[in-house]
Amino acid sequence: MSNCIFCRILSGEFSSSVVWENETIFAFLDIHPISEGHTLVIPKRHVELFTELLPEEVAQVAQSGQLIASHLKKSLPECEGVTFSLANGVAAGQEVPHAHLHVIPRRSGDGFGWKLPPGCGQQVPREGLEAVAQKLRSSINRA
Ligand code: AMP
Ligand code: ZN
Repeated sequence: MSNCIFCRILSGEFSSSVVWENETIFAFLDIHPISEGHTLVIPKRHVELFTELLPEEVAQVAQSGQLIASHLKKSLPECEGVTFSLANGVAAGQEVPHAHLHVIPRRSGDGFGWKLPPGCGQQVPREGLEAVAQKLRSSINRA
């Protein structure tokens, strides 16, 4: 898509620091890294949402993320662990409308984490959980 920044990277119009690619996937360094080695894994096909990807693309994004994570740990001494993060939709914090997986090197006490809204994280009674799970099960079973 011509006005998509990641498609413009894929076409070579904008520069990038390539980490890995194959016929389906492109992985490159985030220009505003949370930590050194912060990589973005994208499908080469322009798709806005992760939930719209084909099963094969989902598999390839996940496998590429796994590959990159293992090599971040091998090649960057600072990398003790890896956070995989994926915003699906604007409400979830997705800024670039081309599906992408963040692969973020982590070390103990680096200060990066989720900012939780006040009041969340309380234990929910079983019947409350079951009511929600039932809605999801019904939707999945109808699909
Ligand atoms: P998100 O907020 O999940 O949509 O993440 C979009 C990410 O794309 C951000 O972390 C940006 O730093 C990154 N980004 C935006 N433009 C570029 C670019 N030209 N090259 C590399 N990363 C980029
Ligand atoms: Zn795109």
